[in-house]
Amino acid sequence: MSDAYMGRILRVDLSHGTIIEEAVPDSVYENYLSGLGLAAYILFKEIPAGAHPLGPDNILGFISGLLTGTGSLFAGRWMVAGKSPLTGGWGDANCGGNLAPAIKRCGYDGIFFKGISEKPVYLYVDGGRFELRDASRVWGKDAVEAEKLLIEETGPRSRVALIGTAGERLSLISGICNDGGRIAARSGLGAVMGSKRLKAVVLNGAKRIPVSDRDAVKTLSRKCSAWVRTQLPLIPGFMMAYLGSFMRMLPVQMALNGMLYKMFLRKWGTGSMNQMSVEMGDAPIKNWLGSHIDFDMKKSITTDPDVFTRREIVKYHCYSCPLGCGGICSTKGKYAQSHKPEYESVLALGGLCMNNDVESIFYLNELLNRAGMDTISAGATVAFAIECYENGILTKQDTDGIELTWGNSQAIVELVRKMIKREGIGDTLADGSKKAAEKIGRGAPHHVVHAGGQEPAMHDGRNDPGYALHYSVEPAPGRHTIGSFMYYEMFQLWKVIKPLPRVWPLYMKGRKYIADEKKAIMSAACSKFMNVVNGAGLCLFGAFLGVKKIPTFDWLNAATGWNKTPEEYMDIGARIQTVKQMFNIKHGVNPKDYRVSKRTTGHPPLVEGANAERSVDIEIMMRNYWRQLDWDEETGIPTADCKARFDIETD
Ligand code: SF4
Repeated sequence: MSDAYMGRILRVDLSHGTIIEEAVPDSVYENYLSGLGLAAYILFKEIPAGAHPLGPDNILGFISGLLTGTGSLFAGRWMVAGKSPLTGGWGDANCGGNLAPAIKRCGYDGIFFKGISEKPVYLYVDGGRFELRDASRVWGKDAVEAEKLLIEETGPRSRVALIGTAGERLSLISGICNDGGRIAARSGLGAVMGSKRLKAVVLNGAKRIPVSDRDAVKTLSRKCSAWVRTQLPLIPGFMMAYLGSFMRMLPVQMALNGMLYKMFLRKWGTGSMNQMSVEMGDAPIKNWLGSHIDFDMKKSITTDPDVFTRREIVKYHCYSCPLGCGGICSTKGKYAQSHKPEYESVLALGGLCMNNDVESIFYLNELLNRAGMDTISAGATVAFAIECYENGILTKQDTDGIELTWGNSQAIVELVRKMIKREGIGDTLADGSKKAAEKIGRGAPHHVVHAGGQEPAMHDGRNDPGYALHYSVEPAPGRHTIGSFMYYEMFQLWKVIKPLPRVWPLYMKGRKYIADEKKAIMSAACSKFMNVVNGAGLCLFGAFLGVKKIPTFDWLNAATGWNKTPEEYMDIGARIQTVKQMFNIKHGVNPKDYRVSKRTTGHPPLVEGANAERSVDIEIMMRNYWRQLDWDEETGIPTADCKARFDIETD
């Protein structure tokens, strides 16, 4: 056995109440790493075709990364994977905090659940013991309250992953929480956990995590840490909006530098981009129909990054992170404190709904985190409902009297409460915008923005077509955490993988819209690399520093004792991507159906704003991308040669 992984997983059958340990062969780690790679390997083989996502045959995996606990930095992401009830295909989500090392300290790389329990339970594991326990005391409680109770019950060293009430009520846009209301939000996997009547996973182990060359890992980490500590004085928060407008007016695109973004993150967190993204056209406005002209600086100033840091009581870091982009803020009203709202939450509940009432954003953020509902999907579903209301598709009678107009923050709060409780119109909206549109009918589907059933994140493909492509081709669609042209610029993979194209610091903006082979190579490289990052359990924001500063491949070799080249790791990334795509094919997904909604790609184009007259040739981009991965360019199905190369067996 090599080092860095525990070599075992835990299998829990909730229908029969049985739990067994299982050894995983070394070859699986060599071919799939750990994290989402390990999950892809298991879920593809074991979830039967046609399994209902909320039925007993779906498997829900909680997995840690290969680098977690090895002394590598940024290695604290834990991941959850299963068949998504939102898309019907591959689903995954991840989150930071302190849960990832706890999985390995219990002696496992992952814990996989199947079946359905008769009554609410939680799994308790402490490295020598594992048992299912009655969860009736915490069922019905929000994620923060329930986590506190479970820690009281099991000891202060316990780490907990759990669902809130949204997951219990099987909302298809619910996620899984940890660390006091942080959330692995996407793909609707909270509903899978809820369907299994599994309230929580409580981990309390103290096993040592083996490392092949601890000194080499530490040396690499020291160098990385020095880069993270480098910080220059930055402009005040409100000036970020002007920086965004300046970038909008330039005819040239500045390649994004991960070091600069790191400095923004360190000072403000992801909220650094709140106003800047609106101004430069990265943030979708008014359900993707508006621009900075509709949501101008006078409106967006309420979400200036300093607004959030001024209310920050304490900053926090995830496990093994030297950066620390998180924070706890003081809030007014029902909750005295809340996690500092992330960029995605601020824009989904803000600009997308034309809402600039920052108090409502603080409140909604905390409300949704506690309920365990995805802020991106919830905000996007509200924006969809407002557009329906403004167009007469929904009336006051349908909304139980709520005046659902653009920017009406009280109405938005009321609607979200109903969604969490599944009350009235909230019941229709609690499963996301696509399912809601199908139920509402009357032309509502025309107003939905989705990719394969999931609401895309708050980055506009008309500004960076790479986002539009990854929303449309990733096995878990609509996600912003895998690739874009900006991400490729920051990853700087060409510095260690020579055939990959380099990006110049300045280039003409128009070049972004040329759907050529080079872009496909860049995008495929992002997908492969992010499978390595997610196999390792690294944070995307760390990866933004660039491969020379965050030595992903060297850490992996030092921690495991392997001697793989960056190209070999990228090949593993391609294998994982292909298995996830084959998972979708096995479950009847047509890859073409994941194409993101037309309005997000400029069909028709906007008439004003940063992205005016911009449209993206998404079909050609998808074909080029599929070809790069050796998938059929017409269908998106991996070719026989590709499957044979990666030794992927299909019936
Ligand atoms: S950069 Fe932020 S999200 Fe990433 S590991 Fe550090 S604190 Fe967590």
